[in-house]
Amino acid sequence: MRRKIVAGNWKMNLDWDAANALFQSLKTIQNEQVEVIVFPSSLYLAAFSSGNNHSLKVGAQNAYPKNSGAYTGEIAFSQLKSIGVSHVLIGHSERRDYFSESNAFLKEKVDACLENGITPVFCCGESLPVREKNEETAFVTRQIEESLFHLSADEFKKCIIAYEPIWAIGTGLTATSEQAEQMHRDIRQYIAGKYGNETAEHISILYGGSCNEKNASELFSCPNVDGGLVGGASLKADSFTQIINAF
Ligand code: PGA
Repeated sequence: MRRKIVAGNWKMNLDWDAANALFQSLKTIQNEQVEVIVFPSSLYLAAFSSGNNHSLKVGAQNAYPKNSGAYTGEIAFSQLKSIGVSHVLIGHSERRDYFSESNAFLKEKVDACLENGITPVFCCGESLPVREKNEETAFVTRQIEESLFHLSADEFKKCIIAYEPIWAIGTGLTATSEQAEQMHRDIRQYIAGKYGNETAEHISILYGGSCNEKNASELFSCPNVDGGLVGGASLKADSFTQIINAF
């Protein structure tokens, strides 16, 4: 059975008081079926991950693929590991677009992440022009191939994939459950082609892009959708809790 996962990407939102209040309220969620991960601003990671004796996991939205050195303003995976961070988002479309992160650079991040025993949540997804040309599957599988397919099957099994069509992120436009299922199935088949069925069946593939408490249960009922990476709707405890309970 694949793990069911609901992750909240808080992006660059919430001041300390609001972030802490949200975190404290999410800590009380009881749902043994679903792994819940929050990705707050890196500023708050040390406070949230210390003495982590609850099931809520804490991840970083980004990290730099060098272990130490003169990289002003950056945070190393090893530093995240040292404070108990368990997951890192790699390849979010906002980082690809605004910070020009390439598939080759993301490959370095994946390696640094795994070397430090942290789980990469690898994000992929196409823009609207790519979908309009019916090239979305080729585009997404190429992102996966160029950043992940150098891994061994054992390493690959440690990754989580999040499919996030860019046209659905923060726009209120959600992929239909058919569109999501189709892409998740294509991704899984592509993984099976490289690593075999056992590995492909092991990987959790999350959907992201305007996932909310209204559409989550339909999306999560798709056989190849193993959960969600949620932006806007993860900023409200009520909405996020309903999404977690939507399985
Ligand atoms: P959204 O963001 O849910 O606000 O569309 C998702 C994401 O970017 O991870």
